[in-house]
Amino acid sequence: SQLHYDVIILGAGAAGLMCAIEAGKRERRVVVLDRAEKIGKKILISGGGRCNFTNLHTTPANFLSENPHFCKSALARYTPSDFIALVEKHNIPYHEKTLGQLFCDRSARDIVHLLETECTAAGVRIVTNSLVQEVRRADEFIVIADSAEYRAPALVVATGGLSIPKIGATSLGYDIARQFGLNIIEPSPALVPFTFNDEDSATYSDLTGLSADVIASCNGAHFREKMLITHRGLSGPSILQISSYWRSGETITLDLAPAQDVTSALRAHPAGRNESSLKSEFRKVLAQRLADRWVERHLPKSWTNHALEDLERQAHAWKIVPAGTEGFEKAEVTAGGVDTNELSAKTMESRKVAGLYFIGEVVDVTGHLGGFNFQWAWASGYSAGQAI
Ligand code: FAD
Repeated sequence: SQLHYDVIILGAGAAGLMCAIEAGKRERRVVVLDRAEKIGKKILISGGGRCNFTNLHTTPANFLSENPHFCKSALARYTPSDFIALVEKHNIPYHEKTLGQLFCDRSARDIVHLLETECTAAGVRIVTNSLVQEVRRADEFIVIADSAEYRAPALVVATGGLSIPKIGATSLGYDIARQFGLNIIEPSPALVPFTFNDEDSATYSDLTGLSADVIASCNGAHFREKMLITHRGLSGPSILQISSYWRSGETITLDLAPAQDVTSALRAHPAGRNESSLKSEFRKVLAQRLADRWVERHLPKSWTNHALEDLERQAHAWKIVPAGTEGFEKAEVTAGGVDTNELSAKTMESRKVAGLYFIGEVVDVTGHLGGFNFQWAWASGYSAGQAI
């Protein structure tokens, strides 16, 4: 069967559905194809099932890209307030958890239902169980999916990144970009836990479950949030955030006692300086077992003020060289993707191939943890939807 539309959107995730709604509202005949049996599967698992759907404090500085300016235009055109207005229109209860992060009170299903309702109202056709086999371009784009042939003058690629292959991520978006000669920034796992090197694993992995308030730093970026020790390495918000800036082989630096002077009491009193008094001071800022282990591993060679000052510096700059990350299996997002130099920042359309658009996570724009990745999906989807 041959099916003719104004636009074919590949991927019924956050970006694809937002684009479909906006294009549909503008009277475009829209079809959305997704390989999964239902739409928005990643939305459903997001934010621990409650979907952190945006962040009140979204700025371009919350995104990584080879071109940090690229995201500005779309983010300005569709803001967190715009998405909140949509959430309120659908009477979805929500709350701010921390740091401007907005979550559904009930369930991420509310967000998927919102998108589905808006799609229906805008006359969008959604075809699930539709694995895309081939994309061609003659006078129009031709998409072969599940033995149907779709044709349209515009094609939007919203197939997401490589993260979490077990719920359906594929490389289709990157394959299409390559097929049409667009450059790709090498995709890598981001917002992902680190694995310990052998020595740190032997020293710290039995502390699984302990957490600490730290500042994690790497390549000029800093995040003050919780760190969590896992049986394989380090996780928690500060670690996930810094993982997006880390490259294989690099060192991360952890401040274990932000803005505190752990050894000041000992430095003030020459008497009573020993391992156990040092541990007591560290226990004031760290969980007991972590404090003890860290002190045992960093015992000063002497008890002079100089040695204690040196130890103090180490506590604010603990160097860890991760063996690696837990990879795409565990990564919340994929960094890298379609090179933003290939796209119009206003419309997300390819500069080389008229009518070909890339939106959402498949583009080389990666948000921090905290609702920013969805805000990018909404904003880039909206921009393309307005332009098609
Ligand atoms: P996706 O949502 O990944 O959608 C892509 C769609 O394309 C999928 O439906 C897929 O089935 C389809 N597809 C892929 N390949 C093919 C193919 N070959 N043929 C047909 N269809 C195909 N971000 C936040 O902002 N807040 C959060 O709370 C949050 N929590 C997260 C929790 C987890 C566990 C994960 C993994 C991610 C989380 N993220 C969160 C990140 C966020 O989910 C993504 O950045 C966002 O979903 C990207 O939207 P997208 O539309 O670009 O891609």
